[in-house]
Amino acid sequence: MNFSDSEIVASIITEKDYQTTDSPEGADIIFLNTCSIRDNAEQKVLNRLKHLQGLRKKNPNLILGVLGCMAERMKTSLLEESQTGLRLDMVVGPDAYRDLPQLLLDVETGQKAVNVILSAEETYADITPVRYASNGISAFISIMRGCENFCSYCVVPYTRGKERSRNPQSIISEAHDLLKAGYKEVTLLGQNVNSYHWEKGEEGWRFPGLLEAIANIDPNLRVRFATSHPKDMSDELLHTIANHPNICKAIHLPAQSGSSSVLKRMNRKYTRETYLNRINAIRRIIPGCAISTDIIAGFCGETTEEHLQTISLMKEVAFDFAFMFKYSERPGTPAEKKYEDDVPEKIKSDRLQEIINLQNQNSLKSNQSDVGQIFEVLVEGFSKKSKQAVSGRNSQNKMVVFPNEGFKPGDYVKVKVEDCSSATLLGKAISQ
Ligand code: SAH
Ligand code: SF4
Repeated sequence: MNFSDSEIVASIITEKDYQTTDSPEGADIIFLNTCSIRDNAEQKVLNRLKHLQGLRKKNPNLILGVLGCMAERMKTSLLEESQTGLRLDMVVGPDAYRDLPQLLLDVETGQKAVNVILSAEETYADITPVRYASNGISAFISIMRGCENFCSYCVVPYTRGKERSRNPQSIISEAHDLLKAGYKEVTLLGQNVNSYHWEKGEEGWRFPGLLEAIANIDPNLRVRFATSHPKDMSDELLHTIANHPNICKAIHLPAQSGSSSVLKRMNRKYTRETYLNRINAIRRIIPGCAISTDIIAGFCGETTEEHLQTISLMKEVAFDFAFMFKYSERPGTPAEKKYEDDVPEKIKSDRLQEIINLQNQNSLKSNQSDVGQIFEVLVEGFSKKSKQAVSGRNSQNKMVVFPNEGFKPGDYVKVKVEDCSSATLLGKAISQ
């Protein structure tokens, strides 16, 4: 999400004769695009900002700005040097990027600049992102912004505002342009993509229709999407995925917990049973589909029994992949107001470790079951370890490494898997 926002920022700025550079040392303006989702994400940004202060010695005119969720959450308090120990020039929230050129002019005349106004409409639909750090093969397309699910632990509804969907025609034309520019894969992005909805007069769009329209652009353009919310994972969407070979067979469906009582406190709006019902629907409608998830360990009031429910859910579903986190209390969220962050740090860490260990076993088992199978892999580039090998992803979003027989990025190659680790499949191209 932030990566996609940075591409929008780059587009707005470079329209006004500013240029991008790879090195902070050579820059006159540095923007940090920030995340507030967990406390450690914010601590990382504050450390980085401390480090960047040093560059002011060499370049007294350096403009340093904080963009995104942390700007939105902390607002002008970020500009109070006596509190933060930081000298910052700009604080700009996620819906105010169009104002950046004007804010930069304000800073150039010696003022501090702030815009943290959230919008109910802004989708940056007309802005063509500058793909400045792309591999030229895969690109993100932001299809909606904000979130109104108000999961009790989550800061996103407060930092990114109301949920709004982007005009479908602008999404479809962005995908067309990417295909023309040589891209082979697009990922449709939103906090809750399967609640995408856009209406104008008689015209109405929902996520399955949008996904289908993008898939129909070209069979050689792969389509992915993230993130899906279990409460909105309809059979219709699953059938759309099943019916289109170029819609990738990988679904990220964050469970957060395997305990219905924890899910209730989290305000996730589903139970363990309804979550499992959706998993069964995926398995039934899209055989061979990879399923990944997000898990939070040690949410407020989590008992040993509730934690064990998460372990049992993970065993039952056997996720192919997971992002796993310790609960981090976020100021201003319903959980902060209503519940006590009462699971001791040591227990949170132990539970997270148990979850990670189990997932590592599940990921390894999932990869082992792929040995002997043939997958179509979209080559992204050389393998990290050797130029004699290339790497890319299969439809299930698993990284596959295989010997380079003159392949180039963007090639689709049939690969037979011969070996694996818990993170990677190793194979060999087979003659087409
Ligand atoms: N919109 C997506 C993802 C949002 S953020 C969704 O609903 O699934 C990505 C992940 O960060 C979440 O799925 C959750 O697992 C985690 N997360 C969010 N807030 C958190 C918090 N306060 N502490 C720990 N993890 C959190
Ligand atoms: Fe946060 Fe829940 Fe929205 Fe995801 S769906 S962004 S976890 S409030």
